[in-house]
Amino acid sequence: MNPTGKRYADIVVVGSGAAGMTVSLLLADHYHVTLVSKDQLASGNTPKAQGGIAAAMGPHDNPKQHAEDTWRTGSVLVNKKTARHITSQAPHIIHWLLDKGVPFDRNDTGVIDLALEAGHRHRRIVHCYDATGSAVTSILEQHIRCHPNIEVLEKHMAIDILTTRSNAGMHCTGIDLWYQTRNTILRYHAPMVVLATGGAGQLYASTTNPPEACGDGIAMAYRAGCRLSNMEFVQFHPTCLYQSGGRALLLSEALRGEGARLLDLAGHSFLKQYDERAELAPRDTLSRAIVQHLQATETPHIWLDISHKPEVWLKRRFPTLVARLKSLGYDMVHDPVPITPAAHYMCGGVLTDYQGLTDLPGLACIGESACTGLHGANRLASNSLLECFTMAFDLAAIIPKRMASFKRYHQESDDPSHHRQQLSGKETLKQHQALQECMTKNFGVIRNDADMRSGLDMMAVIGNSVHKSHGLPGADDIRSTLEWENLNLVAHAVAQSAMARRKNIGAHFNEDLKTHDSTIHTPSILSR
Ligand SMILES: Cc1cc2nc3c(=O)[nH]c(=O)nc-3n(C[C@H](O)[C@H](O)[C@H](O)COP(=O)(O)OP(=O)(O)OC[C@H]3O[C@@H](n4cnc5c(N)ncnc54)[C@H](O)[C@@H]3O)c2cc1C
Repeated sequence: MNPTGKRYADIVVVGSGAAGMTVSLLLADHYHVTLVSKDQLASGNTPKAQGGIAAAMGPHDNPKQHAEDTWRTGSVLVNKKTARHITSQAPHIIHWLLDKGVPFDRNDTGVIDLALEAGHRHRRIVHCYDATGSAVTSILEQHIRCHPNIEVLEKHMAIDILTTRSNAGMHCTGIDLWYQTRNTILRYHAPMVVLATGGAGQLYASTTNPPEACGDGIAMAYRAGCRLSNMEFVQFHPTCLYQSGGRALLLSEALRGEGARLLDLAGHSFLKQYDERAELAPRDTLSRAIVQHLQATETPHIWLDISHKPEVWLKRRFPTLVARLKSLGYDMVHDPVPITPAAHYMCGGVLTDYQGLTDLPGLACIGESACTGLHGANRLASNSLLECFTMAFDLAAIIPKRMASFKRYHQESDDPSHHRQQLSGKETLKQHQALQECMTKNFGVIRNDADMRSGLDMMAVIGNSVHKSHGLPGADDIRSTLEWENLNLVAHAVAQSAMARRKNIGAHFNEDLKTHDSTIHTPSILSR
C-alpha cells in the first residue's frame, strides 16, 4: 500500500500520554505540532495512573533525598546525574500542572496533600484522590484541543520511522502513519519526530496496562537503528486484583502507604520473612516475596487488607478504587481483597539522554518508551509521571537550539528510505496469547536459565506459526498484525537482555544465579 500523500510538519509527536501531550503544548508556542495517537487522545497508561507524582515538597524533604531514594530503589544502575536533575525539577512540574488547572488534593489547611508510597522516606506523592492520571489527562486534553498550533490526529497509528543517509550520517526525516478509519497510509515529513508511545505491558498475560501498550515506539526506534537499554527490567506491580488473566486492576501503592496489610491465605502476615521493610519494601522485592510465598504455599493469591481503616476515610481517599472493586464484586471497605503481582512498567526502552535525544538525529523519545537511566533496575513509585513531564520540558527547551541543524539534514536528505512496503493482515490472536503465556512463564518475576532458553525457542515456534489471513484484511487484522510484530521484537529484546545479565539486580531475578548482587553492574545495551 503506497502512501496516499506527502504531508509536512515542523514536529510530529507520536503518543498522547503525559509525555506526548506535555511536549506538544510546550512546543506549540514556537512550532506547528502534529500530535498523533493510535486511539483517542486519552489513551495509554497515563489516564490509568492512580497514586500520583513524586515531588519533594514536604517541610522536611528535599530533591537530594528524593534522588537518593530513587537510586536506593533502582540500584547502581540508576544514572545519578539524571536522577538529581529530574527530582530537582519536580516542584516546578507540580506548579506548572497547578497553573494548567490540575486539582491536586489539599489538606484542611489548604496545603497540597502528600501521600506516602513504598521506597520514599517522606510523604511526597502529589495526587488527585486515587485517580491522578485521569485528572491530569483531562486538563491537558482541554488545553491541547483548543491550541491553534496543534493538529490532533486520533486513530492514526505510527508504523515506521523514515530515515535517510546524508553526508552527516543517518537521520530521521519523518514518519509513516496508518489512518485506521480509512485504511490509508500518510507520510509525514518533519525535521523532528518525538516518540512518546508508552510501555509494553501487553507482552504479558496479566498486566495493568491497556491494550494499546504494545511497545510500538521501542520497536520502531530499534528498526530505525536506535539502541535499546535495560530491557530485562520489567517491573511487576505487587498488588493487582487476582483475576484469571487479562487486564489486572492495580491496587495503588498508596494503599500500603496508608497502612494496608498483605496477608497470606491463612491470614498471616508473612513479608518480614523476606524483607524487614515488609509492606513498604520496593516493588521488585515485594513481587518476588509474594511469588516465592505463593509457590511455597501452593496458593493462587494473597490478601490485601485495609478494612481496619474507617469507612468514611477510605471512601474519601480511594473513591475510584472502592467503586471499581465494588463493580467487580469486592468490598475493600469491609473485606480483604485477593491480589497477585502483574506486569506493570518497562524500566528499559529506547536509549536516550535525559532530554530524550536518541542515537538518530531528528528523533527523540520521551516517557515510558525511553530509557534515561532514571529508574535503573527498578522504578521508584510515582517517578514515572515525573519523568514524563520533566523530559517533555527538557526536550522542548533543547529543540529550538537544534532545529536549524535538524532542518539542514532534512533539506540535504535524499528520498527517505521507508521500512514497510505494504500492510498485511495476519492471524495473530492465538500467537499473541501464546507469546504472552511464554513471557509470563519464562521471563516473569522469577526466571531461570532453562526456562529462558526454552522461552526463546518457543518464541521462534510461535513466530513461525503466523499465517496470512484469508481474504482482504480488515482494519482490526492490520492493527493486530502491526502490534504483534512490535511485541514480538520487544519480547526478543527482553529475552536477550535477561539471558545476558549474569547477576541479579532489581527487577531481574534468575534463581540459578543465587545471589542478589548490587555492586558491579552496567546498563544492558542492544543494537541492531
Ligand atoms: C494502572 C497504572 C497505574 C499507574 N500509576 C502511576 C502513578 O501513580 N504514578 C506514576 O508516576 N506512574 C504511574 N503509572 C505509570 C505511568 O502511568 C506511565 O508510565 C506513564 O503514564 C507513561 O506515560 P507516557 O506518556 O510515556 O505513555 P502513555 O501514557 O502510555 O501514552 C502512550 C500514548 O501513545 C499512543 N501510542 C502507542 N503506540 C502508538 C503508535 N504506534 N502510534 C500512535 N500512537 C501510539 C497511545 O495511544 C497513547 O496515547 C501507572 C501505570 C498504570 C498502568
